[in-house]
Amino acid sequence: MSVEYPATLGMYIGGEWVSGGGRDHHSLLNPATGEMQAELPLASDADLHDALEVAKHGFATWRVEAPELRGAVLREAAELLRERADHIARVTTMEQGKPLAEARGEVIAAAGLIDFHAGEAVRVYGRVLMRPTGMRSLVLHQPVGPVAAFCAWNFPALNVVRKIAPAVAAGCSVILKPSEETPGTAVEVMRCFQDAGLPGDVAQIVFGVPDMVSRRLLLSPITRKLSFTGSVPVGKHLMKLAADTVMKMTMELGGHAPVLVFDDCDLEETLDILVGHKFRNAGQVCVAPTRFHVQEGIYEDFARGFAERTKQIKVCNGLCETSQMGPMANSRGREVLERLVSDARSSGARVLAGGVCGEGRGFFFQPTVIADVPENARAMNQEPFGPVALLSPFASVDDGIREANRLPFGLAAYCFTENGRRQNLLGDAIEAGMVMINQVRATWPDAPFGGVKESGFGSEDGPEGVAAHLVTKTVHVG
Ligand code: NAD
Repeated sequence: MSVEYPATLGMYIGGEWVSGGGRDHHSLLNPATGEMQAELPLASDADLHDALEVAKHGFATWRVEAPELRGAVLREAAELLRERADHIARVTTMEQGKPLAEARGEVIAAAGLIDFHAGEAVRVYGRVLMRPTGMRSLVLHQPVGPVAAFCAWNFPALNVVRKIAPAVAAGCSVILKPSEETPGTAVEVMRCFQDAGLPGDVAQIVFGVPDMVSRRLLLSPITRKLSFTGSVPVGKHLMKLAADTVMKMTMELGGHAPVLVFDDCDLEETLDILVGHKFRNAGQVCVAPTRFHVQEGIYEDFARGFAERTKQIKVCNGLCETSQMGPMANSRGREVLERLVSDARSSGARVLAGGVCGEGRGFFFQPTVIADVPENARAMNQEPFGPVALLSPFASVDDGIREANRLPFGLAAYCFTENGRRQNLLGDAIEAGMVMINQVRATWPDAPFGGVKESGFGSEDGPEGVAAHLVTKTVHVG
């Protein structure tokens, strides 16, 4: 098994790959070994100035390109992504930590998302309103302008595609700052767009000191839209910066997903589904099920079954064929978990599985199950973003709904019940952008993905994802 990191890192500005030139660097670690594996160039102020000017030019030309051409470029990029999936997946695993099979699945899903947007490129319609005496009004939907996009490291391929594909389909240009922790995947995905024929002034990638990059891009009058995937505090900060030029925004922020498990569910099947889903990507998923509220009558059986299954999970370097869960992506995430678990213990909760770091120099944390976690424990209020399942019992349907809606977040929620009337009630009453009932999949290319409350606004995916890159204009013709 070769352990060489297979990506060459650089920024993509104006159709050129740039690095070196006395720029500052960020050292990239392998989360499974803790070893340094590459150096990433960081943007200077001059780089960002160049990228903005290029994006301005790119928007002027791309917005008038035929939608069919935009679609064709996207389709070709999707094909290249599929061809290169094995290579890209290896890069992802070595910089982010998830098992190779999960990484490959993510790349294939990203290709599917690009294909969907290729189709949407030709489906931006307007409206004609007929008026008396031959007058008419035309309702037009036009691309908003250059987009500044920022995304997190947990889905290094999918998050990048979610920023680039809808912008390109709508006729916008985009400057993307992916995470400095997973740059190699972003670079490989960008190469697919480049090799598919996307003009170098339409999509660009920069890395840098996050606050410096976002200030430079968001305070520029060239930028007309902010698209951000990341935590709630950083999202709020960026919204304030973007307010200065009143730009359009899409905010995909954090969550703290509740799971309501009712006593009429199929318990064994529910446990099989939930345990697998909880520990996907070591729990570092914005829609990860986190607060498991289980109806009193089945609570102890649920807790026992959850802990037994969790202890079977094989944790090791994601490059190993047998790996079911890799390390966490970085050391700070693991430190947060240690503090949250310690706080839960001291507030009287029972740790049924895990609760400790793994061995070795990598950022491993054992899959963890904690029962009887009180409402005021920190983990019940702050997104753990890691492999920790928090369990607590509830009595009535109303109690469950109250618990689900208790926090200021509203991204994903899960319910397990065979009662059809209750399914409808939960679908209506739960405050979340996505409610999954008796299953856990939240991501489909044609369905809007996004949150409510402090989890954000402005969906990605689906026709809504392209619509979020358009502005409406009405032309009244005499
Ligand atoms: P984070 O907000 O600290 O970082 C996310 C990204 O934003 C990173 O690339 C980071 O470099 C960048 N960033 C940080 N400060 C910035 C600034 N001032 N200007 C510009 N960019 C900045 O979040 P994190 O802890 O690294 O990621 C996990 C969080 O992201 C979780 O809260 C998770 O729920 C959320 N997330 C949400 C979604 C979604 O679709 N709703 C998807 C993935 C992750």
